[in-house]
Amino acid sequence: MSDARLAGIGMTSARTRERLVLRLREQGIKDERVLDRVRNVPRHLFVDEALSSRAYEDTALPIGFGQTISQPFVVARMTEALLQGGELHNVLEVGTGCGYQTTVLAPLVARVSSVERIKPLLERTRERLKDLGVRNVRLRYADGTVGWKAHAPYDGIVVTAAPLVVPQGLLAQLSPKGGRMIVPVGPDGAQELLRITRRDDHFVREKLGGVTFVPLVGGTA
Ligand code: SAH
Repeated sequence: MSDARLAGIGMTSARTRERLVLRLREQGIKDERVLDRVRNVPRHLFVDEALSSRAYEDTALPIGFGQTISQPFVVARMTEALLQGGELHNVLEVGTGCGYQTTVLAPLVARVSSVERIKPLLERTRERLKDLGVRNVRLRYADGTVGWKAHAPYDGIVVTAAPLVVPQGLLAQLSPKGGRMIVPVGPDGAQELLRITRRDDHFVREKLGGVTFVPLVGGTA
């Protein structure tokens, strides 16, 4: 990939990105590591070239297959909420999609395992992450509602599609020593972002506000 395409011009330039960072700050994002990632991850490379000029708007955009790239504010909020409470060594992401959340998160933790149920979307993302030099991520084509047992327990889980209720299998793969999961829960139009922290067999739930995600769908496509 050329340096010019990576750096972006016009509507994908440094100045455009800085405006987005400012907006997220105004909306309450405080973690400088997260704001730095929003500044430096070239979001225009995660959407179709026809949508590049809108890549630094604070909005979700279509990525094909009926799916979306998440809104930058929501990615920042989820990443910030996940990082609060200490260093993360082993994180599971459910719903890789185009890999934007994955790329924002990857250098802030030791290792990310990410699962996606739409194969062509995952294969495209695999190439993109390689091009961007993101190395501490392993990807898997599978139904993420059952987690990824081989690498459990996780000290962090981030779910980027909304289940109606939190899948039991994911709760079971959280580390009993303060493992935390950020997950949007509920039906279309009435989803709430939750942080669930596990201490032994206790699961503490905190509400982090209303959100809009595509549904978490069981099975693979
Ligand atoms: N993380 C992405 C947003 C992805 S949209 C970003 O940064 O923009 C949600 C993704 O979750 C979609 O790609 C969808 O296919 C995927 N998904 C939905 N149900 C799933 C499941 N059961 N297992 C794995 N992935 C799932």
